[in-house]
This record gives sequence, C-alpha cells and structure tokens, in this order.
Amino acid sequence: MTGNTNRIIKIYKSLLSYFGPQHWWPGETPFEIIIGAILTQNTSWSNVETAIGNLKDHGLLDPQKLNQVSPEMLSELIRPSGYYNQKARKIMNFLEYLWAEYGGDIERMKLKGVDSLRYELLSIKGIGLETADSILLYALGKPVFVVDTYTYRIMYRHGFLSEETSYQDIQELFYRYLAKDLLIYNEYHALLVSCGKNFCKKKEPLCSGCPLKDDLKD
Ligand code: SF4
Repeated sequence: MTGNTNRIIKIYKSLLSYFGPQHWWPGETPFEIIIGAILTQNTSWSNVETAIGNLKDHGLLDPQKLNQVSPEMLSELIRPSGYYNQKARKIMNFLEYLWAEYGGDIERMKLKGVDSLRYELLSIKGIGLETADSILLYALGKPVFVVDTYTYRIMYRHGFLSEETSYQDIQELFYRYLAKDLLIYNEYHALLVSCGKNFCKKKEPLCSGCPLKDDLKD
C-alpha cells in the first residue's frame, strides 16, 4: 500500500468512527432520491425536505404521476427548494429522458452500464457532474464516487489537491487509492459532507476538534 492509500483509508476510518454510518441517501425510493439530487442544487437539505414533503403530500413522487403535472404546479410545489422554475424544468427534462429511454421505469434504467448511464445523465440539460454521480450512486446503486465542495475543501486542505484540480481529478484520487466498493463510496461521501458541515467550514476550519486533525501536515 502506498502512503496515500493508507491516508485515504485512515481518513475514512477516522470519519466513520467519529460520525458513525450516515445511512445515505435520505429517500424512500430511487425516484425520490433522483428528485432530491436535483432539488438539492444550491440549497440546504431542510429546504429540499419541505419540497419533497409537498410532492409526497400530493402523491406525486412517482414518474407516471409527476409526468402529468403542469410545469406551473411543479414549480409551486418545489418552491421551498429555491430556483424553483429552473429546477422544475430540470425535473421535467429528466422525466422526458426517463420516459423516452426507459418507458418511465427506473428499474430498467438500472440495468444499463454505469458509463452509458453517466453519459446519458450528463446529456440532460441541468444535470451536472455532482447531480449525475449522486443519481448513479445513491439512486441506481452504481459504484461512482461523488465529489462536492466539501470533498474538494477537505482534500485540498490536507494537501492532496491543488487549487486548479478538476472534478475528474478529485474523483480519480479516490478511484486510485480505494477499492471499487459501492458501500465505501456511499459512506465516504456522506462522511465527508458531515465533516465539512461540522468542522471543515469554508471561512474557518475547526481543526482542534476535528477527527481528521492528525492527518494534517505541519
Ligand atoms: S477542519 Fe481541519 S482537520 Fe478537519 S478536515 Fe478541515 S482542515 Fe482537516
């Protein structure tokens, strides 16, 4: 094992032992997870929960039912998540794709290989890398590592990345040093989010109480 492999695994173990399993992604069905992954762009999870709650209350967390809703009604229901007109359009774009390619059936979608699915998802207007990878990992059970701002901030502050590192390069870091394991990818990302929210704050990292402080270089 290389030094970096040891460190990446040690970071994972330290986070897991501090925070415990995160049970991601919060969502009862793959479709709910997909909608949540789109709604969570640029907003807090509590706002997403309110929007998802509205869709649930109207019995709309179902590809068939949501497909029959007008853009105006969808926008109104997801208003708490912010950027609601844009997000309604993104959800409609996803539904259009789901029906065109898979007859509205997410189980059929799951049968496709990860590379093709990733390519397809990234071709949908409004679905970027993080959203596509969140859908692949958490809704469709494909082994991809999700990268977000917390991932970048923590790995940058620990000297693994430069300022200019791309999404793919950050993802490569984990692919290179971790076994390809769906459960580890699932848990690792969720743990990095917890660490970022609780300790590795944007303005001022709270290193003294952080479970990763021993990994920091002088
Ligand atoms: S808070 Fe400090 S120790 Fe914790 S992840 Fe951020 S830089 Fe590392």
